[in-house]
Amino acid sequence: MSDAAHCARCDAVCCRLTVVLQPEDAIPEHLTTHLDSGLHVMARDDEGWCVALDGARMNCGIYESRPLICRRFVMNGPYCRQVRDDYAAGEDRSIPLRTL
Ligand code: SF4
Repeated sequence: MSDAAHCARCDAVCCRLTVVLQPEDAIPEHLTTHLDSGLHVMARDDEGWCVALDGARMNCGIYESRPLICRRFVMNGPYCRQVRDDYAAGEDRSIPLRTL
């Protein structure tokens, strides 16, 4: 079995997933967008990373106020490990978004 996944040894691959915002989230509007379906989500850049990601440090630039769904993402949980495996295999589980 491989080593346990840890944020300190990860390229923040979970920050390429679609982050659907909840009414309780207070995210600056310029960091968000709406899908054609109407869902309010975190915006992503041309390479698929959440625009709130600090690319130099590969960590969340709005950590203290990050969305609920990001707070609930369990490090080394089944979904975390699946996303990392997909990323390593070159697969993309994210929902295509229109870019800013
Ligand atoms: S808000 Fe922060 S934790 Fe959530 S996907 Fe964006 S960079 Fe990652």
